[in-house]
Amino acid sequence: MTVKILLEEKDIPRQWYNLGADLPTPLQPPLGPDGNPVSPEMLAPVFPMNLIEQEVSAERWIDIPEGILDILYRWRPSPLYRAKYFEEALDTPARIYYKNEGVSPAGSHKPNTAVSQAWYNKEFGIKRLCTETGAGQWGSALAFACSLLGLECKVFMVRISFDQKPFRRLMMETWGANCVASPSPETKAGQKILAEKPDTPGSLGIAISEAIEAAVTDPGGKTRYSLGSVLNHVLLHQTIIGLEAKKQLEKAGEKQVDVVIGCAGGGSNFAGIAFPFVADKINGADISIIPTEPTTCPTMTRAPFSYDHGDTARMTPLLPMHSLGHGFVPPPIHAGGLRYHGMAPLVSQAIVEGLLEPMALHQLECYEAASLWARTEGFISAPETSHAIAAVIRQAKQAKEEGKEKVILFNWSGHGLMDLTGYQAYQEGKLIDYPLPEEELQNSLKVIENLPKPSTAKTGKW
Ligand SMILES: *Cc1c(COP(=O)(O)O)cnc(C)c1O
Repeated sequence: MTVKILLEEKDIPRQWYNLGADLPTPLQPPLGPDGNPVSPEMLAPVFPMNLIEQEVSAERWIDIPEGILDILYRWRPSPLYRAKYFEEALDTPARIYYKNEGVSPAGSHKPNTAVSQAWYNKEFGIKRLCTETGAGQWGSALAFACSLLGLECKVFMVRISFDQKPFRRLMMETWGANCVASPSPETKAGQKILAEKPDTPGSLGIAISEAIEAAVTDPGGKTRYSLGSVLNHVLLHQTIIGLEAKKQLEKAGEKQVDVVIGCAGGGSNFAGIAFPFVADKINGADISIIPTEPTTCPTMTRAPFSYDHGDTARMTPLLPMHSLGHGFVPPPIHAGGLRYHGMAPLVSQAIVEGLLEPMALHQLECYEAASLWARTEGFISAPETSHAIAAVIRQAKQAKEEGKEKVILFNWSGHGLMDLTGYQAYQEGKLIDYPLPEEELQNSLKVIENLPKPSTAKTGKW
């Protein structure tokens, strides 16, 4: 039996897929503070114009520049695995396939967009990129990308992670990035918070504000900001995952896929594997496409579709998305990458249209699933990825009950070798399930009450 389905370099996809071109109800534009759509020029101090063009593009297919492919060959095409040993343990008639995105140098899918963004910035004449990072996965992906392209990289890392998780910081520094704890004394936003609360643990919202400020205040104008998820161009860059998977499934002799699953924080790795299959669904294919999230941070399953800011400090435009409110402070579950308050507008609009079937999972079920995975397939999963594995188990069990030979595809978004303290807490029995209480949800939603509401119209086909 074939366990690994590999593609050669020459088989790598040469175009990204833009779901925005095919959505039956079109994506709604970001809005500025005055409630009017944001123009590309307004974004120019923050992002390079070539990426802004991608952000607003209506083209279905966008060529991947050779220079980016040259970098991606270091780990792409990534292997598609048949999860044979996991299937045996579950005694399921389902055939389970997964894309292993943990083989990238930084250990997750994030370098797919990090190298693409760094490449376009360099092309535009930018010398330095600024970003924020929570647990450090995005910061390390961008540090890696900048090192290959000869760009300076500045990472504002949330204080508590900076102190508690030195290994990701050391990865960034090994790739030559400058990483500081946020809030930092280097920006006005950071200084203000340090003056008020010198002992603050920091937050992603504060770190985003610092990174944007550091980018737009460069007097030379050669610095830009980079975001690791949520935005259209980021999701676009990740579609190489699903496009490769399609070729690999064909090679494995599969004629159709029944279920596609990915965990969703800002939505980028899920979109990466799923959007090429969403296109098939729009064209009539019968596929269940499932983004998964923690019950602790239930953006897709319980939050309204609203306009909201992408960051706590309200520096970003208003995006049409499922949002728990920009002030939402999630409990400190271990899946740090799934603790974001919003969801990518493209994923959100596809949910509104009924093309996706979001699912929320409890933390303990996810660690149990990741433990079975480690003891069968062998790889130790990122806590984020465990939310996809738990959903795969549910689907595989359902296939067994129904006696159906389903084909299940999911994205193994990254390894958990830098996140072992979560496994430790699980093994010591210290983890609990923490579904978000309704009262906390309602409180958190107050900040979006008076913000504009996007249309929730849909065709009703799904
Ligand atoms: C960052 C991260 C995620 C969540 O981010 P998305 O943009 O939703 O993909 C999921 N898995 C891993 C391993 C991550 O590092």
